[in-house]
Amino acid sequence: MRGAGRRFKGSGFRISPLSGDGSQAGPEPMIIRKSAEEIDKMRRAGRIVAGVLDMLEEHVRPGVRTESLNRLADDFIRRKGGIPSFLGYRGFPASICTSINDVVVHGIPGKERLKEGDIIGIDVGVILDGYHADAARTYPVGEVSDTAQRLMEVTRASLDAGIAACRPGNRLGDVSNSIQRVVEGGGFSVVVQFVGHGIGKEMHEEPQIPNFGPPGRGPLLQPGMTFALEPMVNEGAWEVRVEEDGWTVRTVDGKLSAHFEHTVAVTEGGPEILTLP
Ligand code: MG
Repeated sequence: MRGAGRRFKGSGFRISPLSGDGSQAGPEPMIIRKSAEEIDKMRRAGRIVAGVLDMLEEHVRPGVRTESLNRLADDFIRRKGGIPSFLGYRGFPASICTSINDVVVHGIPGKERLKEGDIIGIDVGVILDGYHADAARTYPVGEVSDTAQRLMEVTRASLDAGIAACRPGNRLGDVSNSIQRVVEGGGFSVVVQFVGHGIGKEMHEEPQIPNFGPPGRGPLLQPGMTFALEPMVNEGAWEVRVEEDGWTVRTVDGKLSAHFEHTVAVTEGGPEILTLP
């Protein structure tokens, strides 16, 4: 789930209008570095998150209601001793987000049934022993169009590129830029209104992590920093709007959007993905 800073209204981060190029205006963000013990707690929360995303894969098929996916995820998380981070977060009414086709992020599970050819982004957050982990995947429902398939592949590849840039000595802008280059190289658009975020004891910590911007800028990455990287990528134009429910984010042009996310730690040896099975 996207960051929600106190400086911003609505369900998620909005980038400051002063920082349209993705570089962050204002003072350096306060990035909390985690100890090895803290990262281990996040890794254990992350294992539950990944378990949910793996478990749901076989349930994503035509005819299934998104509320059924939500119930399965909630049961899984609690059985493993975790708490779903999203439920009740700023009033969010479910334990996962289910975002179908032109829904970018923050779709609310309900009566809607999946159809052959849909794509669905599922976002999962877990708190375990006081620490959060957050990840998302976009799944095909049955056979999908070539465009949908390529959109998912490019979005996934952009996340991989962002993760690869999470190493000491790089700057945050290198992460953002790595994501943007893959997305735009694939002929798709980066959503700018919602961004990734630091994560730890809070689901949303500093810094904001835009999926675009110039390299070589922003805070220097250091071991112990932990980020939720989450490219949101549109098939068509980058513009999105929030529905009247206050959550559901859709593409303005009605075209598809995909979303992949991992929680990642910066270590001496490079990036470590914390949301793995
Ligand atoms: Mg997130």
